[in-house]
Amino acid sequence: MADYRFNIHGDVNISLMRELIDEFIDPAYYEITGEDSADVIQINTEGSSDRDTVKREIYRRLCDLTGRKQEWGALTGVRPVKLAGELIESIGLAGARERLSDFYYMSDEKIDLVTDMYLYQKQLFGSAEAKSAGVYIGIPFCPTRCLYCSFASNQVPDTEIERYMPVLLHEIDHVGRRLEETGGFAESIYIGGGTPTTLDASQLRMLLGETGKAFGDRIKELSVEAGRPDTITVEKLAVLKDMGVERISINPQSMKQETLDRIGRSHTPEDIEKAFSIALAAGFDVINADIIAGLPGEDEQDFALTLDRMIDIGASNITVHTLAVKRGSRLHEEDKQYHYRAAETVKAMLALSREKLDGAGFRPYYLYRQKHMAGAMENTGYCRDDKACLYNVRIMDEHQSTLAMGAGGISKKYYPETNRLVRIPNVTNYQEYISRIDEMIERKENTYFMEDKNAD
Ligand code: SF4
Repeated sequence: MADYRFNIHGDVNISLMRELIDEFIDPAYYEITGEDSADVIQINTEGSSDRDTVKREIYRRLCDLTGRKQEWGALTGVRPVKLAGELIESIGLAGARERLSDFYYMSDEKIDLVTDMYLYQKQLFGSAEAKSAGVYIGIPFCPTRCLYCSFASNQVPDTEIERYMPVLLHEIDHVGRRLEETGGFAESIYIGGGTPTTLDASQLRMLLGETGKAFGDRIKELSVEAGRPDTITVEKLAVLKDMGVERISINPQSMKQETLDRIGRSHTPEDIEKAFSIALAAGFDVINADIIAGLPGEDEQDFALTLDRMIDIGASNITVHTLAVKRGSRLHEEDKQYHYRAAETVKAMLALSREKLDGAGFRPYYLYRQKHMAGAMENTGYCRDDKACLYNVRIMDEHQSTLAMGAGGISKKYYPETNRLVRIPNVTNYQEYISRIDEMIERKENTYFMEDKNAD
């Protein structure tokens, strides 16, 4: 039985409103009704169709109702730094701070975080050049599937990977050629997934060779996610290094064996130690480590141990994720209320990560939020010695096009005149991707390259 009932009037986006209420109240305890009666909480009785106005009203009413405030206030959406940046560019820093406080009800701490971060990004990378693109290449395979995974990740025999690779190389070759023909260029390349190092050494060499040929020599950054330590070998690292990769990710998530077993990772903390040691010996300039706050069964101390180890081990980027329990993940199936219960623990973990990383000379440089995150918090990328990831910054800033190849890749064409992005998704299922590759290429031709075709 629901404890709260809301009746939201007017032509507003109910699923957005539901999301906002969800951040405060477990969905098991409320319902949005069509009723008008005294014991139902009436919202937007004037019938405004302005989303922000209704959102702000809901936020204020929920604060009164629950006695709680959110650090992010009434701000929903994945990219708060982008919003801060656009405000700074249009009304200046003081105006932006005022707006984030008075209009979105954000806390001073979050306002400092997003405004400082935007200014830091600008200092490091400036603005994206017109015609530049970030390139993403997806390898949708992993050795096992993690408990919380909702990405394109398949556990398949080698023969399936062998079927996928030529198709992917065909797309890379086509897109690289068309980008050049239409006057564009790739600024950064990110090979992600899945786990790209599921590929063997010769497949990695071929992939990097073809990628280099396709996207030429204006690349400022080449990153490969070597996420799962159980896929990393000296031979593969030598190939990556040889082919010009400077940045890799080795993602422990946790250094506690019990947690690794629980979340379905087929490796040990010792595998992580070993992967770091061979990657450092191979001379990688930047090694990122992804860790997760709020993993099932973990307390603050477990999280602190993982964090300390990553700082000591020599990671120069550390990305602190908040566990997102998305639909489609095994964790969501097993425990739909998990992220509500974990909220307080997660907050404490994130505060701890800020303090420890700050003390160790790291600086936050990019950030994004997701739906269904424990405690409605955020994911934050930290870097040491200004070694920030250009691709990550641009993709969150959304003032540059993205060209994504492979199953699950989502390209976005950026139109600076209107500050608009148009999505061009590839299919997520890798088998569909293989059989429908011509259609995937056609989609890019008809959208990404269309404008340039018309200009000829
Ligand atoms: S490593 Fe990443 S992509 Fe692969 S199963 Fe785990 S969460 Fe999913």
